[in-house]
Amino acid sequence: MTIKKPIIYIIIGGLLLLAGIFVLFNHDSRGGSEELTLEASASPVIPEIKKEVVAIEAGDTYGVVMARTNISQHSTKIYEAAKKHYDLAQIRAGYELELIYGYSDGEFRELVYKIDTEEELSVVRTNDTFQAELRPIPYEVKIVTKEGEITSSLYEDAMRQNIDERAIIGLADIFQWTIDFAMDPRVGDTFRFIYEERYLDGEYVRPGRVLAGKYVNEGKRYTSYYFDGDDDNTEYFDEDGNSAQKMFLKAPIAFKYISSGFTTGMRYVEAFNVSTGHRAIDYAASAGTPIRSVGDGTILSAGWNGSYGYMVSVRHNGTYTTNYAHMSRMAVKKGNKVKQGDIIGYVGSTGFSTGPHLHYEMVKNGVKVNSLAEVMPPGKALSAEMKEKFLTETQTWREELDK
Ligand SMILES: [Zn+2]
Repeated sequence: MTIKKPIIYIIIGGLLLLAGIFVLFNHDSRGGSEELTLEASASPVIPEIKKEVVAIEAGDTYGVVMARTNISQHSTKIYEAAKKHYDLAQIRAGYELELIYGYSDGEFRELVYKIDTEEELSVVRTNDTFQAELRPIPYEVKIVTKEGEITSSLYEDAMRQNIDERAIIGLADIFQWTIDFAMDPRVGDTFRFIYEERYLDGEYVRPGRVLAGKYVNEGKRYTSYYFDGDDDNTEYFDEDGNSAQKMFLKAPIAFKYISSGFTTGMRYVEAFNVSTGHRAIDYAASAGTPIRSVGDGTILSAGWNGSYGYMVSVRHNGTYTTNYAHMSRMAVKKGNKVKQGDIIGYVGSTGFSTGPHLHYEMVKNGVKVNSLAEVMPPGKALSAEMKEKFLTETQTWREELDK
């Protein structure tokens, strides 16, 4: 008898343990998130889904791509469901279809197509029905601050700091009305800027928006801040709450087109120089580089003009006209209306020219002037109410830029 007693205790103990497990299990199944987390960390994590990536190749149509997948039987239903949000006939080579399956059952659950850098199409399957939506790409965002000093060019010096090329272009873009990065930078200038880095599944994908930037050019400090005020006020502003956007862009060639093409960064052939009689700015760029109108206007002339080769003139208002010469090809005709930044032609070497470059002139009241020295009126100011909001929202960035 004395020998059996412990056995009974063990059995009772065992029953209590079972009861305890039963209670725990029941509790878990009601979905307490804490318990689920504990359980997940105690046992190996079993993924819920698996993803298959199908690359869209040159010449592929939606039908052709889908025929390569295991879900071709659903292609019509997916197409129909997607139609009112996005026409899958427009899918592009170089992009991809992501197919998501249940991990354990292998059932097809969802198709995702990233339309651009911002938005994706999702088509979710429930049995035999398909539901589509457009949604923002769910990036994880990290905010970073980068800085550098000019020893050769903004592009080269930023690249030396291991800054993503696309972020450097973003930085140059927020100053495109105030700084000509081909002409203005000097050794010793400094830059510092704050921008978003976007990640997907923990992997870096691309830079997002530039939130704020500072460029000190020959001791003069320029700043630009992103501000999401309202429909009329979502853009970049300087420290005083004036829109960064001005009547003219500083350069007729976008930073992105000539930044990476040259080992020495952006270059120019010759600057405005009264004593030599060269009253223009020459930008060296590869033949075919797009040339943009620096401001809104009307095409005054577009055609052959002797030593200027193919030349386009844009009349901006009663005071200013700009001329763009030696084009390989023109993209506008006399009388066309253009907006600031519109492509009006392409760099070439027509007329009297020894190599591909853009000869750019600014004419004010009939006299050729140095566009770099022209002082433009400040951009549109925010209302007092909006300015207050702007100053509050950008305070952190202002402090970060001056650290
Ligand atoms: Zn010239």
